Amino acid sequence: MNHHIFTKFKIGSTDQCPCAAGAMTAEPILQTCPLNKFLRKRFWSQPTSLQNKLFGCLDDLRRTATFARETQTTI
Ligand SMILES: [Zn+2]
Repeated sequence: MNHHIFTKFKIGSTDQCPCAAGAMTAEPILQTCPLNKFLRKRFWSQPTSLQNKLFGCLDDLRRTATFARETQTTI
């Protein structure tokens, strides 16, 4: 995520998401970022909490990891 890489490691020129809606953190990537809207719908056809996506069962975590890989995001 740009936010983590930028603030912790001082790598890159910004922590902002390319959609310009704010910092690129786990929550907008997994829940609201318009750039990932269609991919999110493919992975989670029903509304799913951030808690489940990050701290759910093994299947939840596998789905989140695959989503992150497809969005080329490091979470
Ligand atoms: Zn975004």
